[in-house]
Amino acid sequence: MLVAVLGTGIMGGPMAANLLEAGMQVRVWNRTAAKTRPLVERGATPAQTPAEAARGADVVVTMLADGATVETVMSGPDGALATMDGAATWAQMSTVGLAYTDQFASQAADAAVAFADAPVVGTKQPAEQGTLVVLASGPEQTLARCQPIFDAVGSRTITVGEAGAASRLKLVANAWVLAVTNGTAECVALAQRLGLDPRQFLETISGGLLDVPYAHLKADEMINNDYPVSFPVTHAAKDARLVLEAAGQGLDGIQATLGHLEHAAQQGYDRADFAALYEGITPMKEPRF
Ligand code: NAP
Repeated sequence: MLVAVLGTGIMGGPMAANLLEAGMQVRVWNRTAAKTRPLVERGATPAQTPAEAARGADVVVTMLADGATVETVMSGPDGALATMDGAATWAQMSTVGLAYTDQFASQAADAAVAFADAPVVGTKQPAEQGTLVVLASGPEQTLARCQPIFDAVGSRTITVGEAGAASRLKLVANAWVLAVTNGTAECVALAQRLGLDPRQFLETISGGLLDVPYAHLKADEMINNDYPVSFPVTHAAKDARLVLEAAGQGLDGIQATLGHLEHAAQQGYDRADFAALYEGITPMKEPRF
């Protein structure tokens, strides 16, 4: 199988590496070409443009920042859709929300290209380990064609009906990730405000029904004020906006989380890991006790 991977960032890079590992022929394109170098050293073929990467490919995977970027890379000048033939499949794996997913499904149909809506749950390390959870929706035959790709990048595929359903499920999963991380940040900040060591909060929940491994991982980053990036603040803010837009109303917790992310970004944490949303809760930092 010849797979073109468009976007070799934090997620797309290791995903392409796992496709190579699974024995597939892989072509790679990235706006910043230097990021494809480690993949080329492992056997991938570099392409100068998305159109060149997609020509003759069985499946084109998009793993790009957001919907606007996917639109440019697929349909802009030198875009991939122009060189995909009727036998090709587009596996859209970036997180782009509902409106863009509908738009891409209909652009693929106009170009007689099969379309899989297949965002992923999991971050940098699961991408490296090939243990992402792939949420897949689209026609059965299309998903069957993409399954070897999903198996190479993930440990599980959850199939959820027609294109659009997987992106809806992805937003629910990301609302959970945002809620857990924001809840952790507020509890770390509250412990500090109350003159406590936040590690005692982690010790309190440890091993019980209230425990969440992710809270420990993210609290460590917050306590150490060190945010090695797995999921950047900018993408988390994008996803919070997509969740709010999809919900239409309510979700005050996600709205507050977005406020913390935006405040952190204003302080220069935009490319830090999104645990830095903790830095957006500044009024809590002065201890009261
Ligand atoms: P990333 O490292 O920031 O990669 C973003 C990719 O988009 C890079 O290839 C980047 O190219 C490209 N890009 C950005 N703006 C562009 C433009 N104007 N034109 C062309 N290319 C452009 O992000 P990532 O973490 O891999 O995320 C990729 C997607 O996966 C996003 O939709 C994200 O929400 C989703 N996702 C991320 C995670 C996570 O934990 N990181 C988990 C699940 C899903 P350059 O290298 O040139 O900047």
